[in-house]
Amino acid sequence: MPCLATSDHYTLDLPAGHRFPIAKYVLIREQLLWQGIAAPEDFYEPGLCSEEDILRVHTANYWHRVRDLQLTDREVRNLGLPQSPQLVRRSLSSSAGTLQSALRALRNGIGMNLAGGTHHAFADRGEGFCVLNDQAIAAAHLLAHELANQILIVDLDVHQGDGTAAIFRDEPRVFTFSMHAGANYPLRKEQSDLDIALALGTGDAEYLAQLRDTLEPLVNRVKPDFIFYQAGVDVLATDKLGKLSLTPTGCRQRDELVLGLCHARGLPVAVSMGGGYSERLADIVDAHCNTFRVAFELWP
Ligand SMILES: [Zn+2]
Repeated sequence: MPCLATSDHYTLDLPAGHRFPIAKYVLIREQLLWQGIAAPEDFYEPGLCSEEDILRVHTANYWHRVRDLQLTDREVRNLGLPQSPQLVRRSLSSSAGTLQSALRALRNGIGMNLAGGTHHAFADRGEGFCVLNDQAIAAAHLLAHELANQILIVDLDVHQGDGTAAIFRDEPRVFTFSMHAGANYPLRKEQSDLDIALALGTGDAEYLAQLRDTLEPLVNRVKPDFIFYQAGVDVLATDKLGKLSLTPTGCRQRDELVLGLCHARGLPVAVSMGGGYSERLADIVDAHCNTFRVAFELWP
């Protein structure tokens, strides 16, 4: 049974009309319970990430300025979220959620965070709604504590995992794989260990064929003993920031492909939610809930 990290800190008060769909973090928890996918006892509060864990990935200068609300106006613009004590707490809580998910995955096969996937956070700056890089922090923790030797990050958010790629550029023990829409944010891409830039409008069949042809050979080659999965649902055709054309069924089949492979190989996997910006909040919530549904089917 997957353990689900969630916290009241995951939410955030944003100015009316802000384009970040913060409500999904509460609604997905509600929906998982309502649909009977998860039970109340499957959820736990992950606490807050320690400075020690943050500083393995982020520069002290950046983290201290985040913590002390000293980001410049330009940095806040690039981030796309107003800085506040609440945002600092949210970032600490969400990073702890992914780290705890990783530790639970080592015990149970899978651990899931009802937030995270903040892959545009670099060592020294935040961008695109991402303050701290949760998967990088968790991966560095596993390596530092010798809980994993070779990590594979599978980033299937529609946007390239640029922060993650840059953070682990010179770390051979972390292989970064990003499959994303080519001509989309971020404009300046970093180099992952493997990038697949898809054509605009790529649909289910082509997307799933590409993933099927890539993932299993990649696992055979990299031989990871731990996988992080960034399961952004901004690959949907309905997404406002996406530029791919997956259906909800295709998105679910994507999750089945990734999680099914982890399950079949006995590879521990930690899942972060990633992005989702469909016009209708219900489409975002449903697609994320499918990721959890697939996990509960595989790890009953
Ligand atoms: Zn995204």
